[in-house]
Amino acid sequence: MSRSATGGGAYDVGVLVAGNWKMYKGPSETAAFLDAFDPPLGVDVVVCPPYVSLAVAVGRGVSVYAQNVHWSTEGAFTGEVSAEMLLELGVDGAIVGHSERRQHFGETDETVARRAEAALAAGLGVIACVGETGEERETGRTEAVLRRQLSVLPRHERLVIAYEPVWAIGTGRTATPQQAQDVHGFLRARLAALGAEGIAVLYGGSVKAANAGALFAMPDVDGGLVGGASLDATEFLAIAAA
Ligand code: PEP
Repeated sequence: MSRSATGGGAYDVGVLVAGNWKMYKGPSETAAFLDAFDPPLGVDVVVCPPYVSLAVAVGRGVSVYAQNVHWSTEGAFTGEVSAEMLLELGVDGAIVGHSERRQHFGETDETVARRAEAALAAGLGVIACVGETGEERETGRTEAVLRRQLSVLPRHERLVIAYEPVWAIGTGRTATPQQAQDVHGFLRARLAALGAEGIAVLYGGSVKAANAGALFAMPDVDGGLVGGASLDATEFLAIAAA
């Protein structure tokens, strides 16, 4: 399936590969990376640099998403950035609900929903992350957790879901292609039940060049949200080419 991420428009057809750079790469490293990066044809590549590197990333041949976004246009919210500010820079979208935000910065389903709603209303694309912890999986609660996380999100043509099992983020442990497919099939069915068919579902969690092909070949996996491996241009290119 082929999807287009350009300009925050609808994802209507293809493969989407997004690189979450976390708190890595300042402006000069970002510029150098993107100047040497030639995304393969037929794949929509998104990079998500830290806030300070967004301006320099815009206009360098890939879509650019922030790693978070606030729900207010402006206000006394120290450390936050609004959708309108991102749009002014030429940024295409934002990640919301990443597990590192949920784990370390008190992000909740409610604040994730508010961030997603405001960003979509302002015209940005949104990649909303959902995923269970290792303990939730081991105690049979994966589907209940995902159902809850999904239920609060708005339905929107510019919304993309990233299934990121928390036990696989930055741990080197990847879901097997079949584990990913099982959850993606569940998410696809839930989205259909919520009247939101056609929403792309990405897999994230220790994706690398060596496992990307098998994961992306699964029928309900529409691409990937890649953390650590997206920091290396050769590795990220190999993942996008997979
Ligand atoms: C992420 O940060 O979204 C992620 C999936 O990280 P990693 O690929 O390093 O597990």
